[in-house]
Amino acid sequence: MAEFDVDLFVIGGGSGGVRAARIAANYGAKVMVAEEYRMGGTCVIRGCVPKKLFVIGSHVHQEIEDAAGFGWSIGQVSFDWATLVANKDKEIARLEGAYTTNVEKSGARIVKSRAVLEDAHTLRLATGEKVTAKYILIATGGAPNHGPHVPGIEHVISSNEAFHLKELPKRIVIQGGGYIALEFAGIFAGYGSDVTVVYRGDNILRGFDEDVRKHVRAEMEKRGITIITGCTVTKVDKHGRDFTAHLSGGSSIAADQVMFAIGRHPNVANLGLETAGVAINPANGGIQVDGWSKTSVDNIYAVGDVTHRANLTPVAIREGHAFADTVFGKRPVQVDHATIPTAVFSQPEVGTVGLTEEEARAQFSHVDIYKTDFRPIKATMSGRDTRVLMKLVVDGSSDRVLGCHIVGDCAAEITQVVAIAVKMKATKADFDATIALHPTASEELVTMRTPTARHVRQAAE
Ligand code: FAD
Ligand code: NDP
Repeated sequence: MAEFDVDLFVIGGGSGGVRAARIAANYGAKVMVAEEYRMGGTCVIRGCVPKKLFVIGSHVHQEIEDAAGFGWSIGQVSFDWATLVANKDKEIARLEGAYTTNVEKSGARIVKSRAVLEDAHTLRLATGEKVTAKYILIATGGAPNHGPHVPGIEHVISSNEAFHLKELPKRIVIQGGGYIALEFAGIFAGYGSDVTVVYRGDNILRGFDEDVRKHVRAEMEKRGITIITGCTVTKVDKHGRDFTAHLSGGSSIAADQVMFAIGRHPNVANLGLETAGVAINPANGGIQVDGWSKTSVDNIYAVGDVTHRANLTPVAIREGHAFADTVFGKRPVQVDHATIPTAVFSQPEVGTVGLTEEEARAQFSHVDIYKTDFRPIKATMSGRDTRVLMKLVVDGSSDRVLGCHIVGDCAAEITQVVAIAVKMKATKADFDATIALHPTASEELVTMRTPTARHVRQAAE
């Protein structure tokens, strides 16, 4: 009789868990995956995919406005939020089915249940049934932060609820200045809501390149989004169907919805981590792992948002794949977390890969900046007041391109491709040697010849 019921038990059927389960099963392992909610996890069910569908739809209004300059006269248009939500739900259900089928096709078995650790080799399902496993992968993801517990917090929605609102809010207050706050600000504004973003710091997108932060804020404001900085929501009152968000500065805003997008925390609570001896990383509250995604317990691994490293779907997938290759494929692989491209699907979009100017100047003695800020060709006829930002951060000593930052249409698509060059350690000379593709916005990346700034740090005496 086998020593364990399964070779691998995966807790969580999201991006990281599903990839690990499928690859391990392909290597011949007997695999069980527990999912307590819906197969596909955050990205598919209430993250990247429904968000992107909402973003795509919300662009239409602007396209219609821009069309006039190109001769189109479009009559009365109307938008139906309920249709958008229903069609999105249909697509998400289809994807959930595809995820389920793909896992089952690989030979892994899905159990629709919460699973918690009893000890380092035993899992308990919601039914009380116990399953023993040689290896365990924790891929439980994360969840929206609700705190701080301001009075009226029970009236506040997170991104989870934003995907299922019965009606489009005419006015919405969104607290936060990161990915989710800015993406939903653009979504709601695009569909016609009056949007106010409330952010506690001096400018949105902390951690991004300073020029990007300034540019995206200015562009969002041009599109009618109000951004209030240096302020928090201290209380939310409900009157009938309306809400009032009270701000730390003493002012208040009337709204139909108040949303907080103030970060996410790893799903580590009540998982039985202590009983199994799995340590938490005190620096970030995620499960502590080494370069192989192994936890403090030899046969237990963790990947994705639950480790709170880089909370992005492709990273969770890569970590899950590397785990399966390493443990079941006899192909040891460590994930390289350097130079991960990322995009904020705000309007306009932000795409970024590599170092910001500030990071580069802290790490390198010679840093050259190539920057351009221009009116895109479409705006010349649409008349829209908008500008695109493109910026390259270059190591002045080696000529290597350290970072690329774009704000404008298709920034995410452009950045994905530039990321290959940056990962390959391309130099500015390689960019310059590449013939431009005209007329595009991204041709600017290969035609910026003169640095807009050159920073030289004197060696310490
Ligand atoms: P998840 O996908 O969260 O999967 C974890 C799964 O585990 C869940 O299904 C959960 O129900 C299940 N689970 C938890 N505990 C248990 C338990 N005890 N037993 C059984 N099941 C359990 N990333 C991008 O790269 N691009 C984007 O555009 C993007 N947009 C986003 C938009 C939003 C609104 C949000 C919230 C996130 C977005 N992300 C995006 C981040 C991305 O969704 C996550 O990084 C990714 O889903 C992490 O995958 P994961 O496998 O670690 O966890
Ligand atoms: P982010 O970390 O991106 O942003 C959180 C924001 O909330 C920051 O502006 C932060 O301010 C602010 N904040 C944090 N705590 C408080 C508080 N107590 N009171 C007021 N403001 C607060 O988190 P999100 O929730 O936007 O998204 C979570 C993660 O999901 C992202 O970091 C990303 O990894 C992933 N994601 C990726 C997407 C993509 O790839 N396009 C899209 C959506 C999510 P401060 O900066 O001052 O700390």
